[in-house]
Amino acid sequence: MKIKTYLKTFFDLTFPKLCFYCETKTINGLLCKKCFQKIKIPAGNLCRYCAKPIPSGKKSCRECLAKKHYYDRIIALTTYQEPIITLTSYFKYKSLPFLGDFLSEIMISHLKRSGFEPSNFDFVISVPLNPAKQKERGYNQASLLGKKIANYFEIPFKDDIIYEVKNKRTQAKLDRIKRQENVKKAFKVNESLTGKNIIIIDDIFTTGSTLNECCFQLKEKGAQEIVAVTLAKA
Ligand SMILES: [Zn+2]
Ligand SMILES: [Zn+2]
Repeated sequence: MKIKTYLKTFFDLTFPKLCFYCETKTINGLLCKKCFQKIKIPAGNLCRYCAKPIPSGKKSCRECLAKKHYYDRIIALTTYQEPIITLTSYFKYKSLPFLGDFLSEIMISHLKRSGFEPSNFDFVISVPLNPAKQKERGYNQASLLGKKIANYFEIPFKDDIIYEVKNKRTQAKLDRIKRQENVKKAFKVNESLTGKNIIIIDDIFTTGSTLNECCFQLKEKGAQEIVAVTLAKA
């Protein structure tokens, strides 16, 4: 049996034509019409570093003005609300990597509507996952999304450029300052990136400290422009 057929069968048996989120009839094997329509592109003027809504005419929120950012811009592709919250947590914590297909399709469709032009970039990478966590989960969720996006826009996907050197603690239980300390020098970039324009993919943007540290290392190696693309901002 082909892997896709297998996954579909598995999916049909596990979730028999009911919405993943509210359990009414689905329109696409995953969500019902109502839940699907709740997945929206964030509207209005957004901070270029944290994707928070800000007054029109401004480029960044006050908090971000006070911080140094090593990525040039962030694009959050959906609003962090249901059913995205449930889908992303199932994708991450319930060993359901096939949800990445659906989530990457949403990202691609919203990216096309955002006006952002990925073809000007040299390659796509993803925020690396702690090796122990990756082993336990069996996959890096950001890398699954990154590969699909790179593939669609016909840009190389590189997952061997940046890796974690320090076994950092789980970020979820730490406050913002502790998160920053925790990620310092946690990543290493193993090749020169002089003049390269890079898209870095993550699933959910929270404080951005991991992302920023990755981008610091990428810029140290000569990266020119870095745009972070995430499914949503928490
Ligand atoms: Zn539903
Ligand atoms: Zn901001």
